[in-house]
Amino acid sequence: MAARPPAPWHTLPRVRLRDGSAPLVHLERFSAAVGTPVWAKRDDVGSIAFAGNKVRKLELLLADAIAQDCDVVVAVGAAQSNFARTAAASAARLGLRAILILGGRDPGRLTGNLLLDRLVGAHIRFAGSDAWDVLQAALDDTCQELRREGRRPYALPMGGSTPLGAVAFAAAYEELVLDLDAARLAPGAVVHASASGGTQAGLELGRRVLGRGPRVHAVDVSKTGGDLRPVVAGIASSAARLLGIDETWTAADVEADGSQLGGGYGVPTASGLEAISLLARTEGIVCDPVYTGKALAAVVAMARAGTSGPVVFWHTGGAPAIFDPHYGDQLSGALVI
Ligand SMILES: *Cc1c(COP(=O)(O)O)cnc(C)c1O
Repeated sequence: MAARPPAPWHTLPRVRLRDGSAPLVHLERFSAAVGTPVWAKRDDVGSIAFAGNKVRKLELLLADAIAQDCDVVVAVGAAQSNFARTAAASAARLGLRAILILGGRDPGRLTGNLLLDRLVGAHIRFAGSDAWDVLQAALDDTCQELRREGRRPYALPMGGSTPLGAVAFAAAYEELVLDLDAARLAPGAVVHASASGGTQAGLELGRRVLGRGPRVHAVDVSKTGGDLRPVVAGIASSAARLLGIDETWTAADVEADGSQLGGGYGVPTASGLEAISLLARTEGIVCDPVYTGKALAAVVAMARAGTSGPVVFWHTGGAPAIFDPHYGDQLSGALVI
């Protein structure tokens, strides 16, 4: 058999932020409970400051920051942003300063991700609003201000979902396909939470380049609701261009399962809280109510409806949010004691 050329993402510079692998594990007891074989790809373990999907993106983004000789990274996100937390921890590890611009007002208490942000030494500014365009404008202003002071900032937009950040998930898709080959598995779908779109765009890009593997079933947990698909298509097309690959996507080429969005981004749902509780009780694995709990609720719904066949649940991290009282109280209220 002729050797395949290596996938184009292998040549990009990357900093090492992940100390272990993200194992693919069979969720035996969870599978029995929902009536369908489910595996988990565990990006919630194996890297810095409670891990998560954003660390993969940061390996490429911060390599770019270093190549550009930047000395401070500026990230935006919600107050309990997993991206901001992992960006801050990654900056600490690389000896860079981190400034985080977070949504809303200062809650006056350090909890969950916010505590971790400060623990790893990040400076925090609250934008006073949760609107993504306000946060983006604050990011631009802060970078300009830093440049005037003679600093060299590197801007990390929402979720790290630049085309370069997304490329990390094309590589991750290849990693999953190799895991599946090694375990001789051929599940029909990989299910994950999608918000800023970079993870999904990268997975779609990886699948198109490899020409095989499970379909990408993205569960929309974002604010944008119906607008997520064109965002994902745009990021995937730009990421392909960055790699010199002549492929494009339109909204019709990608999925966004809106069935678990409930009241919107960051608003827990009953099915999400139930799914979190089920995985925790059957496997001892912890999900969060903002992202992974909603994706897992889609897995449960598909399994119970008998429509999915074997699936991979991509555990994208996010558990520190349950140590924020807002989410912790809702989760504890949903527990069957
Ligand atoms: C950010 C995040 C996602 C979504 O990834 P995007 O690339 O922003 O779509 C999913 N799960 C967790 C835990 C996250 O922090």
